[in-house]
Amino acid sequence: MPVTFSIVAPIYNELDNLSELHRRVSEVMSGLKESWELVMVDDGSTDGSTERILELAKQDQHVRPVIFARNFGHEAAITAGWDNARGEAVVIIDADLQDPPEVIPELVEKWREGYEVVYAVRAEREGETWFKKMTAALFYRIVHRITDVKIPLDTGDFRLMDRKVVEVLKTMRERRRFPRGMSAWVGFRQIGVPYKRAARHAGVTKYPFNKMVKLALNGITGYSYFPLQLATYFGFAAAGLAIIAIPVVIIMRLAGHGAFTGQATTLIAVLFLGGVQLIFLGILGEYLGRIYDEVKGRPLYIVREGPEQ
Ligand code: UDP
Ligand code: MG
Repeated sequence: MPVTFSIVAPIYNELDNLSELHRRVSEVMSGLKESWELVMVDDGSTDGSTERILELAKQDQHVRPVIFARNFGHEAAITAGWDNARGEAVVIIDADLQDPPEVIPELVEKWREGYEVVYAVRAEREGETWFKKMTAALFYRIVHRITDVKIPLDTGDFRLMDRKVVEVLKTMRERRRFPRGMSAWVGFRQIGVPYKRAARHAGVTKYPFNKMVKLALNGITGYSYFPLQLATYFGFAAAGLAIIAIPVVIIMRLAGHGAFTGQATTLIAVLFLGGVQLIFLGILGEYLGRIYDEVKGRPLYIVREGPEQ
Protein backbone atom coordinates (compact mmCIF):
# COMPACT_ATOMS: atom_id res chain seq x y z
CA MET A 1 0.00 0.00 0.00
CA PRO A 2 1.48 3.38 -0.96
CA VAL A 3 2.10 5.71 1.96
CA THR A 4 1.63 9.46 1.62
CA PHE A 5 3.11 10.70 4.90
CA SER A 6 5.93 9.31 7.02
CA ILE A 7 6.39 10.84 10.44
CA VAL A 8 9.86 10.03 11.76
CA ALA A 9 10.58 10.27 15.49
CA PRO A 10 14.09 9.64 16.87
CA ILE A 11 13.72 8.19 20.35
CA TYR A 12 16.24 7.90 23.15
CA ASN A 13 14.81 7.09 26.57
CA GLU A 14 11.45 8.76 26.05
CA LEU A 15 9.22 6.15 27.70
CA ASP A 16 6.86 8.68 29.27
CA ASN A 17 6.35 10.49 25.98
CA LEU A 18 5.63 7.61 23.62
CA SER A 19 1.91 7.04 24.25
CA GLU A 20 1.20 10.75 24.07
CA LEU A 21 3.29 11.10 20.91
CA HIS A 22 1.43 8.21 19.30
CA ARG A 23 -1.93 9.59 20.38
CA ARG A 24 -1.33 13.13 19.14
CA VAL A 25 0.28 12.10 15.86
CA SER A 26 -2.59 9.65 15.19
CA GLU A 27 -5.14 12.35 15.88
CA VAL A 28 -3.52 14.91 13.59
CA MET A 29 -2.77 12.44 10.81
CA SER A 30 -6.21 10.87 10.70
CA GLY A 31 -7.53 14.39 10.11
CA LEU A 32 -5.51 14.62 6.91
CA LYS A 33 -7.38 11.72 5.30
CA GLU A 34 -4.33 10.20 3.61
CA SER A 35 -2.32 7.09 4.35
CA TRP A 36 0.48 7.62 6.87
CA GLU A 37 3.02 5.83 9.04
CA LEU A 38 4.89 6.69 12.20
CA VAL A 39 8.51 5.54 11.98
CA MET A 40 9.74 5.19 15.55
CA VAL A 41 13.53 4.92 15.60
CA ASP A 42 14.77 3.63 18.93
CA ASP A 43 18.29 4.93 19.41
CA GLY A 44 19.45 2.37 21.97
CA SER A 45 17.04 3.31 24.76
CA THR A 46 17.56 1.65 28.13
CA ASP A 47 14.39 2.77 29.93
CA GLY A 48 11.91 0.39 28.32
CA SER A 49 11.08 2.65 25.36
CA THR A 50 12.12 -0.20 23.05
CA GLU A 51 9.49 -2.61 24.41
CA ARG A 52 6.87 0.14 24.34
CA ILE A 53 7.61 0.90 20.68
CA LEU A 54 7.31 -2.78 19.73
CA GLU A 55 4.06 -2.99 21.68
CA LEU A 56 2.64 0.06 19.87
CA ALA A 57 3.70 -1.48 16.56
CA LYS A 58 1.78 -4.64 17.41
CA GLN A 59 -1.35 -2.68 18.28
CA ASP A 60 -1.23 -0.19 15.43
CA GLN A 61 -0.31 -0.93 11.81
CA HIS A 62 0.73 2.70 11.35
CA VAL A 63 3.73 2.30 13.64
CA ARG A 64 6.96 1.21 11.94
CA PRO A 65 9.64 0.33 14.47
CA VAL A 66 13.39 0.55 13.84
CA ILE A 67 15.43 -0.62 16.83
CA PHE A 68 19.15 0.21 17.01
CA ALA A 69 21.72 -2.14 18.49
CA ARG A 70 23.02 0.72 20.68
CA ASN A 71 22.91 4.49 20.99
CA PHE A 72 24.20 6.01 17.76
CA GLY A 73 22.98 9.55 18.28
CA HIS A 74 20.11 11.73 17.15
CA GLU A 75 21.57 12.32 13.67
CA ALA A 76 21.98 8.59 13.00
CA ALA A 77 18.41 8.01 14.16
CA ILE A 78 17.13 10.62 11.73
CA THR A 79 19.13 8.94 8.96
CA ALA A 80 17.56 5.58 9.76
CA GLY A 81 14.21 7.36 9.58
CA TRP A 82 14.97 8.58 6.05
CA ASP A 83 16.12 5.11 5.07
CA ASN A 84 12.99 3.40 6.40
CA ALA A 85 10.32 5.95 5.53
CA ARG A 86 8.11 5.04 2.60
CA GLY A 87 6.00 8.18 2.36
CA GLU A 88 5.78 10.74 -0.43
CA ALA A 89 6.54 13.35 2.23
CA VAL A 90 8.69 12.71 5.29
CA VAL A 91 8.35 14.72 8.51
CA ILE A 92 11.05 14.65 11.21
CA ILE A 93 9.69 15.34 14.67
CA ASP A 94 11.14 15.17 18.20
CA ALA A 95 9.65 12.44 20.37
CA ASP A 96 9.39 14.70 23.43
CA LEU A 97 6.54 16.70 21.84
CA GLN A 98 8.55 19.91 21.79
CA ASP A 99 7.60 19.99 18.13
CA PRO A 100 3.80 19.93 18.30
CA PRO A 101 2.32 17.40 15.83
CA GLU A 102 -0.50 19.92 15.31
CA VAL A 103 1.91 21.96 13.15
CA ILE A 104 2.19 19.11 10.61
CA PRO A 105 -0.93 20.13 8.62
CA GLU A 106 0.63 23.59 8.10
CA LEU A 107 3.79 21.96 6.75
CA VAL A 108 1.66 19.74 4.52
CA GLU A 109 -0.19 22.73 3.17
CA LYS A 110 3.06 24.35 1.96
CA TRP A 111 4.13 21.01 0.50
CA ARG A 112 0.89 20.87 -1.47
CA GLU A 113 1.69 24.37 -2.77
CA GLY A 114 4.83 22.86 -4.30
CA TYR A 115 7.57 23.42 -1.73
CA GLU A 116 9.95 20.48 -1.36
CA VAL A 117 11.41 21.35 2.03
CA VAL A 118 9.18 22.99 4.62
CA TYR A 119 11.10 23.71 7.81
CA ALA A 120 9.53 24.83 11.07
CA VAL A 121 11.09 27.99 12.52
CA ARG A 122 11.09 28.42 16.30
CA ALA A 123 9.38 31.74 16.76
CA GLU A 124 9.10 31.13 20.50
CA ARG A 125 10.53 28.60 22.90
CA GLU A 126 8.87 27.44 26.07
CA GLY A 127 10.18 25.72 29.15
CA GLU A 128 13.88 25.90 28.41
CA THR A 129 16.54 27.54 30.56
CA TRP A 130 17.91 30.90 29.47
CA PHE A 131 21.29 29.21 29.17
CA LYS A 132 19.93 26.69 26.66
CA LYS A 133 18.16 29.46 24.72
CA MET A 134 21.24 31.65 24.71
CA THR A 135 23.66 28.90 23.64
CA ALA A 136 21.17 27.77 20.99
CA ALA A 137 20.79 31.31 19.63
CA LEU A 138 24.58 31.76 19.60
CA PHE A 139 25.03 28.37 17.98
CA TYR A 140 22.64 29.15 15.12
CA ARG A 141 24.29 32.51 14.49
CA ILE A 142 27.89 31.25 14.54
CA VAL A 143 27.06 28.38 12.20
CA HIS A 144 25.15 30.78 9.94
CA ARG A 145 28.11 33.18 9.83
CA ILE A 146 30.87 30.68 9.21
CA THR A 147 29.37 28.07 6.93
CA ASP A 148 29.07 28.38 3.19
CA VAL A 149 25.56 26.94 3.15
CA LYS A 150 22.88 29.27 4.40
CA ILE A 151 21.24 27.21 7.10
CA PRO A 152 18.03 28.96 8.24
CA LEU A 153 18.23 30.58 11.69
CA ASP A 154 16.39 29.17 14.72
CA THR A 155 15.47 26.04 12.83
CA GLY A 156 15.87 22.57 14.24
CA ASP A 157 15.23 19.25 12.58
CA PHE A 158 11.44 19.60 12.63
CA ARG A 159 10.60 19.74 8.93
CA LEU A 160 8.78 18.12 6.04
CA MET A 161 10.70 16.89 3.04
CA ASP A 162 9.50 15.67 -0.30
CA ARG A 163 10.44 12.15 -1.44
CA LYS A 164 12.81 13.67 -4.06
CA VAL A 165 14.79 15.42 -1.31
CA VAL A 166 14.87 12.32 0.90
CA GLU A 167 16.24 10.26 -1.98
CA VAL A 168 19.12 12.75 -2.34
CA LEU A 169 19.78 12.79 1.40
CA LYS A 170 19.89 9.01 1.45
CA THR A 171 22.90 9.11 -0.88
CA MET A 172 24.81 11.40 1.51
CA ARG A 173 26.52 8.93 3.82
CA GLU A 174 28.96 11.28 5.59
CA ARG A 175 29.66 10.15 9.13
CA ARG A 176 29.68 13.44 11.00
CA ARG A 177 26.16 14.42 10.27
CA PHE A 178 24.31 17.66 10.55
CA PRO A 179 20.82 16.98 9.16
CA ARG A 180 19.61 20.58 9.02
CA GLY A 181 22.78 21.55 7.13
CA MET A 182 22.36 18.64 4.75
CA SER A 183 18.78 19.60 4.11
CA ALA A 184 19.79 23.21 3.34
CA TRP A 185 22.69 22.09 1.17
CA VAL A 186 20.58 20.08 -1.29
CA GLY A 187 18.66 23.14 -2.48
CA PHE A 188 15.16 22.61 -3.91
CA ARG A 189 12.28 24.94 -3.14
CA GLN A 190 12.40 25.62 0.59
CA ILE A 191 10.24 27.66 2.91
CA GLY A 192 9.92 28.24 6.66
CA VAL A 193 6.78 28.10 8.78
CA PRO A 194 6.92 29.74 12.24
CA TYR A 195 5.78 27.77 15.27
CA LYS A 196 5.91 27.87 19.02
CA ARG A 197 8.31 25.31 20.42
CA ALA A 198 6.68 23.74 23.44
CA ALA A 199 8.25 22.55 26.65
CA ARG A 200 9.16 18.89 26.94
CA HIS A 201 6.14 16.69 27.67
CA ALA A 202 8.18 14.55 30.07
CA GLY A 203 11.78 13.57 30.75
CA VAL A 204 14.98 15.59 30.41
CA THR A 205 16.98 16.87 27.46
CA LYS A 206 19.44 14.46 25.87
CA TYR A 207 21.39 17.38 24.48
CA PRO A 208 23.65 18.55 27.27
CA PHE A 209 26.17 21.30 26.60
CA ASN A 210 28.95 19.00 25.35
CA LYS A 211 26.65 17.45 22.73
CA MET A 212 25.65 20.95 21.58
CA VAL A 213 29.35 21.81 21.15
CA LYS A 214 29.85 18.63 19.12
CA LEU A 215 26.87 19.49 16.96
CA ALA A 216 28.22 23.01 16.42
CA LEU A 217 31.61 21.57 15.43
CA ASN A 218 29.94 19.21 12.96
CA GLY A 219 28.00 22.12 11.52
CA ILE A 220 31.09 24.28 11.12
CA THR A 221 33.64 21.72 9.91
CA GLY A 222 31.12 19.94 7.72
CA TYR A 223 30.18 23.03 5.77
CA SER A 224 33.25 25.26 5.87
CA TYR A 225 37.05 25.32 5.60
CA PHE A 226 37.13 28.61 7.46
CA PRO A 227 38.98 27.27 10.54
CA LEU A 228 41.73 25.92 8.27
CA GLN A 229 42.00 29.20 6.38
CA LEU A 230 42.32 31.08 9.65
CA ALA A 231 45.92 29.81 9.91
CA THR A 232 46.79 31.48 6.60
CA TYR A 233 45.22 34.80 7.60
CA PHE A 234 46.98 34.65 10.92
CA GLY A 235 50.31 33.83 9.29
CA PHE A 236 50.04 36.82 6.97
CA ALA A 237 49.12 39.11 9.85
CA ALA A 238 52.03 37.91 12.02
CA ALA A 239 54.53 38.10 9.16
CA GLY A 240 53.26 41.58 8.22
CA LEU A 241 53.74 42.74 11.78
CA ALA A 242 57.30 41.38 11.82
CA ILE A 243 58.19 43.09 8.54
CA ILE A 244 57.09 46.42 9.97
CA ALA A 245 58.74 45.79 13.34
CA ILE A 246 62.21 44.84 12.02
CA PRO A 247 63.18 48.23 10.49
CA VAL A 248 61.52 50.07 13.37
CA VAL A 249 63.64 48.25 15.94
CA ILE A 250 66.84 48.68 13.87
CA ILE A 251 66.26 52.41 13.53
CA MET A 252 65.45 52.77 17.24
CA ARG A 253 68.61 50.89 18.18
CA LEU A 254 70.77 52.98 15.82
CA ALA A 255 69.24 56.09 17.32
CA GLY A 256 70.47 54.94 20.71
CA HIS A 257 67.17 53.78 22.28
CA GLY A 258 67.47 50.54 24.21
CA ALA A 259 64.43 49.18 22.39
CA PHE A 260 63.19 45.65 23.16
CA THR A 261 66.11 44.35 25.16
CA GLY A 262 65.83 41.51 27.64
CA GLN A 263 64.41 38.02 27.64
CA ALA A 264 60.81 38.84 28.39
CA THR A 265 60.05 40.15 24.90
CA THR A 266 61.62 37.08 23.29
CA LEU A 267 59.78 34.76 25.63
CA ILE A 268 56.42 36.40 24.98
CA ALA A 269 56.90 36.18 21.22
CA VAL A 270 57.92 32.51 21.41
CA LEU A 271 55.05 31.52 23.71
CA PHE A 272 52.53 33.45 21.67
CA LEU A 273 53.52 32.03 18.30
CA GLY A 274 54.03 28.55 19.78
CA GLY A 275 50.53 28.66 21.25
CA VAL A 276 49.01 29.84 18.01
CA GLN A 277 50.77 27.07 16.10
CA LEU A 278 49.49 24.44 18.51
CA ILE A 279 45.94 25.72 18.12
CA PHE A 280 46.17 25.42 14.36
CA LEU A 281 47.72 21.98 14.67
CA GLY A 282 44.67 21.06 16.72
CA ILE A 283 42.35 22.38 14.01
CA LEU A 284 44.28 20.35 11.41
CA GLY A 285 43.90 17.31 13.70
CA GLU A 286 40.16 17.89 13.91
CA TYR A 287 39.78 17.78 10.13
CA LEU A 288 42.23 14.87 9.85
CA GLY A 289 40.27 12.84 12.42
CA ARG A 290 37.11 13.48 10.45
CA ILE A 291 38.79 12.29 7.26
CA TYR A 292 39.95 9.14 9.10
CA ASP A 293 36.39 8.50 10.26
CA GLU A 294 35.09 8.81 6.72
CA VAL A 295 37.79 6.55 5.30
CA LYS A 296 36.88 3.71 7.67
CA GLY A 297 33.47 3.72 6.04
CA ARG A 298 31.67 2.01 8.92
CA PRO A 299 27.88 1.85 8.90
CA LEU A 300 26.14 4.92 10.32
CA TYR A 301 23.96 2.78 12.56
CA ILE A 302 23.20 -0.87 13.22
CA VAL A 303 19.62 -2.11 13.33
CA ARG A 304 18.87 -4.90 15.79
CA GLU A 305 15.25 -5.21 14.86
CA GLY A 306 13.72 -3.59 11.82
CA PRO A 307 10.18 -3.20 10.51
CA GLU A 308 8.59 -6.00 8.54
CA GLN A 309 8.41 -4.80 4.96
N1 UDP B 1 17.63 11.66 20.70
C1 UDP B 1 18.11 10.51 20.08
N2 UDP B 1 19.38 10.08 20.35
C2 UDP B 1 20.21 10.76 21.20
C3 UDP B 1 19.73 11.95 21.80
C4 UDP B 1 18.45 12.37 21.51
O1 UDP B 1 17.39 9.87 19.30
O2 UDP B 1 21.34 10.30 21.40
C5 UDP B 1 16.25 12.12 20.42
C6 UDP B 1 15.41 12.42 21.64
O3 UDP B 1 14.78 11.26 22.12
C7 UDP B 1 14.43 13.45 21.11
C8 UDP B 1 15.24 14.19 20.06
O4 UDP B 1 16.34 13.35 19.72
O5 UDP B 1 13.32 12.85 20.48
C9 UDP B 1 15.74 15.54 20.55
O6 UDP B 1 16.46 15.38 21.76
P1 UDP B 1 16.23 16.32 23.02
O7 UDP B 1 14.79 16.61 23.20
O8 UDP B 1 16.91 15.69 24.18
O9 UDP B 1 17.03 17.63 22.58
P2 UDP B 1 16.59 19.16 22.86
O10 UDP B 1 15.18 19.30 22.38
O11 UDP B 1 16.71 19.35 24.33
O12 UDP B 1 17.56 19.96 22.06
MG1 MG C 1 13.63 18.18 23.10
